Amino acid sequence: MTITVALAGSTGSIGTQTLDVVAAEPDRFRVVSLGASGRNVDQLVAQARAVRPDVVAVVDGTHLDRLKAELPSCELRVGEEGVASIGAEADVCVNGVVGFAGLAVTLATLHAGRRLALANKESLIAGGPVVQRARRTPGAELVPVDSEHGAIHQCLRSRDADGPTRVADLVLTASGGPFRGRTRAELADVTVDDALAHPTWKMGPKITVDSSTLMNKGLEVIEAHELFGAPAGEHGVGIGFDQIDVVVHPQSIVHSMVTYTDGSTIAQLSNPDMKLPIGYALAWPDRIGTPFGRLDWASVGRLDFEPPDLDAFPCLGLAYEAGRAGETAPATLNAANEVAVEAFLDGRIRWIDIPDVLKAVLDRHDGGRADSSAAVIDADRRGREQAASIISAG
Ligand code: MG
Repeated sequence: MTITVALAGSTGSIGTQTLDVVAAEPDRFRVVSLGASGRNVDQLVAQARAVRPDVVAVVDGTHLDRLKAELPSCELRVGEEGVASIGAEADVCVNGVVGFAGLAVTLATLHAGRRLALANKESLIAGGPVVQRARRTPGAELVPVDSEHGAIHQCLRSRDADGPTRVADLVLTASGGPFRGRTRAELADVTVDDALAHPTWKMGPKITVDSSTLMNKGLEVIEAHELFGAPAGEHGVGIGFDQIDVVVHPQSIVHSMVTYTDGSTIAQLSNPDMKLPIGYALAWPDRIGTPFGRLDWASVGRLDFEPPDLDAFPCLGLAYEAGRAGETAPATLNAANEVAVEAFLDGRIRWIDIPDVLKAVLDRHDGGRADSSAAVIDADRRGREQAASIISAG
């Protein structure tokens, strides 16, 4: 049976790789809708001509007349709600939107009782309790596309679903990014180009900078807690932040691990290729037949592991702090980070200023509850404003 796919963020890195996975298995998947910012209109038109979706949705309607002329057989939708609406109309929605802007797609898909293939970690991290409530909608499923969480999802399948959980720890691996091994002093003058030169993964600029600061790993710790932390029987295995560890693994072959109470560790290994976790989330509970990321054991050589340097990369510790505080603290931290990363990419702050901005914003956080989408959106807005004012004050 064909699985229908809605793809939000189609012109980004996750979006284009999702189309590669679908193209590899055309009998299994059909893209029924594309959602995008609307800025890369040439690319969006080319994608729509190739996959012939029923619906094309854009956040920004500036080029709507051109889309109408070029795609006469597609239904066009505009605005954030227009893009979010595609999540309710397919078997699975891939959320590849960048940043907090992905919250509407996450909520619309889960509220419609559909499967969400989540690459947009920020919506889950910032949306916390609100997303968890949406997840309880009958039929709703959340399968992570983030490679670490896709790995843990796979490792957890080795346990007896009906038996006791017996999970001791989740172990997230981190490549360490381009600055692994440098001290705080050696990081004072790194440039945007340095930060964008990721050693193992090819990704968009925002997440690549997050990898260089280890903020990406910090966000992934919160993401793992949201995905798997709930008591067994809901979605989770009942683990707290003390049971989520980070280990630096520069080869990016082990994508994450689960350690059980008897000391046995199950790991998921593959080459670093996002098409594997994307295909896993699209086909789940089945697997795709195309071997993206298949390892050649003769050339793997060695696998190294080392502890993260929390002094040189303070963002990781700040994320644990915000995660433990819960409620709107992760939304505030995430918002400040999006603003700080943009300021760094624009040359307005230095790389080493990023954690200082985040710490200043987190220290001012008032501990508000995340009891509605409005509260989460408000925490995001305030986090952005505070970060912007700290940055402009220099
Ligand atoms: Mg990841």
